[in-house]
Amino acid sequence: ALIVFEGGDGAGKSTQVTALAHTLQDAGHTVTCTREPGGTPLAEAVRSLVLDPTNAPVSPATEALLFASARADHVARLIHPALERGEIVLCDRFVDSSAAYQGAGRGLGTAAVRDLNEWALQGLVPHLTVLLDVDRATAESRRRSRGVAADRVESEAAAFHEAVNAAFRDLAELAPSRYLVLDAAAPAEDITRAVLQRVSALVPA
Ligand code: C5P
Repeated sequence: ALIVFEGGDGAGKSTQVTALAHTLQDAGHTVTCTREPGGTPLAEAVRSLVLDPTNAPVSPATEALLFASARADHVARLIHPALERGEIVLCDRFVDSSAAYQGAGRGLGTAAVRDLNEWALQGLVPHLTVLLDVDRATAESRRRSRGVAADRVESEAAAFHEAVNAAFRDLAELAPSRYLVLDAAAPAEDITRAVLQRVSALVPA
């Protein structure tokens, strides 16, 4: 199964990926944890290029195309083979992040960015997407407590955060049966419990 975590910066995605991975591994499952942008050496190199301040400003189209090509490598060389081996793949961000950030945040249009990613996905659809819906105040305070200095969104307007978050929610509403939407401001343990409950229905113990 492919289980994806989505949400704005500071939503707590990586904390939840780690918690879920440990629980599933303790139950005897083979789990592959990965992330986007990145996940393979090529895709991580693309990530570094896009996030490198010396390359700024990267145009929205450049960003969307590079992240889609990174995703093509990630899907073909890591995610698809792991699923073929019967593993559970947990991914911190996936195609919804492209639709939300480049599509909504940077104005390319969510549908256009989803179309662009068809070549990368080769028909792959996550079995479950956990959306950690994060309000701006929570996102800001988590970012500050992490001491993340170079977070690009920090300098962006509240409108960007809102556009990204609204896009994530819209995507969840398009296919509610494949999504679990949770309030990211809830205590981490409560979120973990809710995720586990949903995942146990998906993954036989
Ligand atoms: O999730 P992570 O912290 O790894 O993301 C790194 C940065 O890239 C974040 O600032 C995030 O907002 C940004 N990002 C983006 N477009 C994506 C995925 C991530 O702008 N499709």
